Amino acid sequence: MRYTFKILRFDPLKDEKPYFQKFQHEPGPADTVLEALKDIRDQQDPTLAFRYSCREAVCGSCALVINGNTTLACLTSIKSLETSEVIIEPLPNLEIQKDLFVDMKPFWDALEKVEPYIINPEATPEEGHRIEEKEMDRIYRFITCILCACCYSACPVASRDGRYLGPAALAKLCRFVKDPRDQRPYEAWAQFNSQEGVWGCDTVYACNDVCPKDVRPADGILSLRRMMFASELKHLFKRKP
Ligand code: SF4
Repeated sequence: MRYTFKILRFDPLKDEKPYFQKFQHEPGPADTVLEALKDIRDQQDPTLAFRYSCREAVCGSCALVINGNTTLACLTSIKSLETSEVIIEPLPNLEIQKDLFVDMKPFWDALEKVEPYIINPEATPEEGHRIEEKEMDRIYRFITCILCACCYSACPVASRDGRYLGPAALAKLCRFVKDPRDQRPYEAWAQFNSQEGVWGCDTVYACNDVCPKDVRPADGILSLRRMMFASELKHLFKRKP
C-alpha cells in the first residue's frame, strides 16, 4: 500500500519558516515510521534530517510527533496508524536544528540541575551497597526512563515557561531521593520546592500519557510534593522552642 508522508522540513540556514513536504512511499507490511523515514532519506532525499540510534526503544533518540501523538518512531508501526497519510513533526518545546532534529539542551540542562546520580559521602564503593527488593520496587519505574523527552515536549508548563524543569528531570529527582543509597539532605533538594520545580506542574498528566516506558513522571512529581511537605513540617516543628 502506498502512503503519503507529510514531513515537517526546516533548514534555519535557508528557510524563513518550517513547511511540510510530501513524500510517496510504499513501506513493508511490518515497517515502523523510523524505517519509512530511513527509506525516504536513502531513496528520495538524503538531506532529510532526523535522529535515531538503537531502533528498539532503548536509546530514546527517535522521539517525534506522529499524526499528533508524541512517541518513538521506532515503536510506531505504520499499519497501527490506520490511515494512508502520516504526518511527522519534530518534538515541540525544543528548537528545531534541522527538519525533525531538535536541540535537546534545555532538556539536558534541567536534568543536570537535579544532580541525577547517587550522592553519598559515606559510601564505600569497594564494599558495595545492596538494595532490598521492596526498596527497588519504589524506584524501578523511574529507572526505566530512556530520556527520550516525549514528556518534556508534551508538557503544557514546559511549553509556556522555560524555567520549569519538566517531568523527566523531576521524576529523576524522585528516583534518587527515594533511593536508600542516596544521602542528599533535604536542604539540597529543597530548592525544587518551587514553581520551577514540583509546584509548577499543572497535573494534566500529559507526561504520563505519552511516556513510551510507562515511567509515569507525574506520579514522581506528586510523590516529591508529599515528601517535601512532610520535610517542611518536620523542619517547622524542629524550629519551635
Ligand atoms: Fe521519555 Fe518517559 Fe523518560 Fe519522559 S519519563 S524522558 S517520556 S522515558
